[in-house]
Amino acid sequence: MCQFCVTHGEGEKWYLRAENYAEDLLSDLRRRRFVEGFLADSDHLRRDRDRLERLARAPGFVRRAVARGISWRMKKVHFGQVVPLEDLERILGFVSSVVRLACACRQVSLGREARYCYALSLAPDGGEFRRIADRLDPAYFKGPDMQGLETLTCEEALASFRGHEDEGLCHSVWTLVTPYIGVVCNCDRTDCMAMRSTVVHEVPVMFRAEYVARLDPDRCTGCRSCLRSCQFGALSYRAGVGKAAVDASRCFGCGVCRVACPTDALDLADRASDPVAARLW
Ligand code: SF4
Ligand code: SF4
Repeated sequence: MCQFCVTHGEGEKWYLRAENYAEDLLSDLRRRRFVEGFLADSDHLRRDRDRLERLARAPGFVRRAVARGISWRMKKVHFGQVVPLEDLERILGFVSSVVRLACACRQVSLGREARYCYALSLAPDGGEFRRIADRLDPAYFKGPDMQGLETLTCEEALASFRGHEDEGLCHSVWTLVTPYIGVVCNCDRTDCMAMRSTVVHEVPVMFRAEYVARLDPDRCTGCRSCLRSCQFGALSYRAGVGKAAVDASRCFGCGVCRVACPTDALDLADRASDPVAARLW
């Protein structure tokens, strides 16, 4: 289990505990200010992106020390975890409102609005998060779609998550001052700061999933359709045996590769069951 399951999940998966989505957590003034600042100022991501690019040019010992410091700080305020679709479905079983909003990362990387983020609430009307977001300066919505926030039913949200998975995007949950979980994001390593930070710059700001991919060699025909679906470089092709292979040391357990496989040769196993993956978060 990841560190957050131990500290915020009482031994269960921390993101499956309704307490971590509770409205009363958002009544905490420090957390409210953090959420307001986070939503209102996407320029902070631009500054972070520039810092990461500068850090990539620093000596290795500096990079490692700074990366540890950033991870430590982010675990307190805004840290994520990869979550496969089936666990998102379980989350949607106890939250009662989902609001789709513009992805702050893509505001920076694409320079326009793209709706890949979903605010979750136990309150049917979107609760405090919605009230904070409703007060945002309309200038936040810079793209062609100016309709403001969209409220989705849980069924609509699940269908939307499936669509993102078909696009090859990796689902993740995010804290807004830990352990409060405010949003689900749908990430790729090019445009999403957190994934880029974790995978490309080796500055971890998200945990791997509680799972790891497992390949059934009897089902694998070696068609290689799955190889491009993995954003983490965990899949390869073994020409000698004519089958795909999973590198458990790279796998983040997102489960997106399953969509690409026509023979259901890929599934997810508990991370703890794999001796290599169990040590990696
Ligand atoms: S191998 Fe599959 S489950 Fe693992 S990171 Fe790649 S796409 Fe995700
Ligand atoms: S898509 Fe499925 S059958 Fe094709 S190589 Fe990958 S695991 Fe094997």
